Amino acid sequence: MASSELIHDLEKTITNIPDFPIEGIQFKDISPIFLQPKLYEAVIKDFVEFSKGKIDVVCGIESRGYLFGIAIAVALEVPFILIRKKGKLPPPFIGQVYDLEYGTSEIEMKTDQLQKGQRVLIHDDLLATGGTTEAAAKLVEKQGGVPAQFSFLISLEELNGSKKLEKFNADIYSILKY
Ligand code: AMP
Repeated sequence: MASSELIHDLEKTITNIPDFPIEGIQFKDISPIFLQPKLYEAVIKDFVEFSKGKIDVVCGIESRGYLFGIAIAVALEVPFILIRKKGKLPPPFIGQVYDLEYGTSEIEMKTDQLQKGQRVLIHDDLLATGGTTEAAAKLVEKQGGVPAQFSFLISLEELNGSKKLEKFNADIYSILKY
């Protein structure tokens, strides 16, 4: 969906930092995008095109999922709900534990913001193993919401994150695939 010009500009802008934060990880630094307002605007426009008319709510995953997520929600004139790392949200909330490469982690979502039956776009900056996004979708389902769409700026294809999301039968979109 994204134009080849947008993909080219993003590839030029996003930097790859080898072995950060730990050895073996190729960290994608998206922060230079925010130095270029026109490029940021083009990214939002592309995400908005993917979700227009298809969703009732955007859920963004802490913290880089907020950078584009809120702008997508505002453009679509739908609510934005924060999915946060454990221990940051005031009650009432529910949590979902998920596996990391070593150990586990947990994300949380308030229980008084999503309405039953609402169709949700779950958005994050990057899809790696898919564990975080799968946990976010479970939080939405636990509250009677429908994970209808997933969108990411980047998907690391070799990690097969989209496999973990297949069971939700949702549309998945990544602007860049590495
Ligand atoms: P995962 O649960 O494995 O899909 O990991 C996704 C989350 O980890 C996202 O919120 C990303 O921001 C972050 N992440 C994972 N791998 C990378 C990477 N190579 N570069 C930047 N962020 C990453």
